[in-house]
Amino acid sequence: MSMFGHVFVKDNKYKLKGDFHHLTPNIPIRNADEGWKLMGVTNPRDMTYIHSYGGEAPFFEALGEGKLLATRCDNPDCEFKGTIYEPFRIHCADCLGKNTIIDITELAKNTAKVHTFMVCERVGAFNILDKPVKFINIEFEGVATILMSYLSVGEPEIGMKVVPIFKTKNPTCTILDLSWVPDGTKKEELPQGFAF
Ligand SMILES: [Zn+2]
Repeated sequence: MSMFGHVFVKDNKYKLKGDFHHLTPNIPIRNADEGWKLMGVTNPRDMTYIHSYGGEAPFFEALGEGKLLATRCDNPDCEFKGTIYEPFRIHCADCLGKNTIIDITELAKNTAKVHTFMVCERVGAFNILDKPVKFINIEFEGVATILMSYLSVGEPEIGMKVVPIFKTKNPTCTILDLSWVPDGTKKEELPQGFAF
């Protein structure tokens, strides 16, 4: 039994605890049609990748607290001052200034609509969402960009009003802590651990 790798930051440095990679034996690959002749070996690899959120950390922290954060360019010299971005952009793509973090939870509850959607019957490795996955692109009033997420209840439709739900119980601190349901969905219908 090995311990999962844990990381924390102290004195501005990563501090690592536990195992970040495991040595797993190779297994021969043999050919059943040719007397089980050796063809190669498997190379099992299991490692823990340290993924830094950097300036996006407040966005992921807020999801577990039931809040949706976006950013806005407030640079008076920017041609596109006042533009709001969701997904969260640390810097303005037009003036490269640092954006202001804003809370758009209420805006999302009142104005979020499905811009377009995609239902995926097959998924890639490490998927943990229920299949089929109902990916939706969400538009918000006054927001310049659309957000990619997933619908947890019902069937998506273009123009459908949706509201955000958040995994406030044991949040994963990933984008999966944010999901959406059709406007009018009851509390009892939400997936486990999620709240409005
Ligand atoms: Zn700007």
